[in-house]
Amino acid sequence: GDYNQKIDYVFKVVLIGDSAVGKTQLLARFARNQFSLDSKATIGVEFQTKTLIVDNKTIKAQIWDTAGQERYRAVTSAYYRGAVGAMLVYDMTKRQSFDHMVRWLEELRGHADQNIVIMLIGNKCDLGSLRAVPMEDAEEFAQRENLFFMETSALESTNVETCFLTILSEIYRIH
Ligand code: GDP
Ligand code: MG
Repeated sequence: GDYNQKIDYVFKVVLIGDSAVGKTQLLARFARNQFSLDSKATIGVEFQTKTLIVDNKTIKAQIWDTAGQERYRAVTSAYYRGAVGAMLVYDMTKRQSFDHMVRWLEELRGHADQNIVIMLIGNKCDLGSLRAVPMEDAEEFAQRENLFFMETSALESTNVETCFLTILSEIYRIH
């Protein structure tokens, strides 16, 4: 949570990707350690914050979530404004959500700062038997586009903390 402490940095990070890949649940898990199977119960807030310490500095992560604006080009430029990090999320059981990463990346690069730190996330890795995106495909794409890459499960908490800490540490490192 946020305490009455001195904040050294505020970093805006945006979540993008197709509908139903798990963006809202990743954020709920990271910010509040919560998860819901019925995501519609989640109220569409613009962003959530979480304060953490990196290298003795207090960093407030302000993480933005799309509230049902996932249709192509429906996300407005205000959403991207000031973002220093982006999480490109696909569902590893839905090939199409991975194929759409090209578009999301193009849209992101069209709006965001040059030096934005981007992480590709293959979510729902708890559903390994339904895998539709080989890890090598994602690694290759990430390498080609210069993105960090991780597979996560918001349901089981796998790599959720790690992926946010990784992107925030890298943002801190270059700022
Ligand atoms: P969003 O539209 O990208 O924000 O997706 P949501 O966060 O609303 O999640 C869509 C659905 O996928 C919901 O039913 C979630 O409970 C489910 N979901 C999200 N993350 C995971 C996960 O890591 N594993 C599994 N099995 N289901 C997930
Ligand atoms: Mg959502």
